[in-house]
Amino acid sequence: MKDYLVKTTIYNGYVRAYAITSTNTVEEARRRQDTWATASAALGRTITITAIMGAMLKGEDSNTIKIQGNGPIGAIIADANAKGHVRGYVNNPHVDFELNEKGKLDVARAVGTEGSLSVIKDLGLKDYFTGEVPIVSGEISEDFTYYFATSEQLPSAVGAGVLVNPDHTILAAGGFIVQVMPGADEEVITSLEEQIQSFPAISGLIREGKTPEQILQQLFGEEEVKIHETMPIEFRCKCSKERLANAITGLGNAEIQSMIDEDHGAEANCHFCNETYLFTEQELEELKS
Ligand code: ZN
Repeated sequence: MKDYLVKTTIYNGYVRAYAITSTNTVEEARRRQDTWATASAALGRTITITAIMGAMLKGEDSNTIKIQGNGPIGAIIADANAKGHVRGYVNNPHVDFELNEKGKLDVARAVGTEGSLSVIKDLGLKDYFTGEVPIVSGEISEDFTYYFATSEQLPSAVGAGVLVNPDHTILAAGGFIVQVMPGADEEVITSLEEQIQSFPAISGLIREGKTPEQILQQLFGEEEVKIHETMPIEFRCKCSKERLANAITGLGNAEIQSMIDEDHGAEANCHFCNETYLFTEQELEELKS
């Protein structure tokens, strides 16, 4: 199954729900960065939720998520746009721990339980929205739930899960975000909470081959879910030699000269996709301003 996302409304539009299957996208991130199992789960959950948040945007808008915890993976950075392109990386990909007491990958131990989660939305025309909340658990989904409630005043349920094969490749990944729109009555919120609490882990449902539509229908009842749109999702990086050349120019002539004199060239690496771009001495000369 190719990765995609579905946008739906439930309870006559009082609730907005998104679900995504992201196995291939997370596998692509893992392959490019060689993340180990626990790091893959942390990055995969973040990429999955970031992709859904991208789908909430319009046109050329994009958003960037940074989770900076005090755990060994360091920062997790991910960004996504409204076209289904998402990418992300962690500072230290080689982090893996024993399963936690629930038998799950110990994401909180990798991320840390103290720090911050920040969201930057680039809404074009130099219009930025920035929200930052403290990390509440380091399990990612709960941290985003807290973010939506606090920073966007949108009561939300956020779930994301990643299952990893013994060889470290990704077996299944997926997630959902369910948000209660202003004006919904208490009954809707209570029934929603009950349904979500008793719901099985989404990564297991994806592994069984369930589609995002089927997952939401199982959660809320087939009759209730109104499907509006489906959208393909993929890992895609927007780096290019030209962008990195601009970054090198930004370092200034003195720095570029020392790259020429000392290294006789430069190697620039994209953190997101791990692509390496080589610049010769001649090319560096041309980047001086
Ligand atoms: Zn890249």
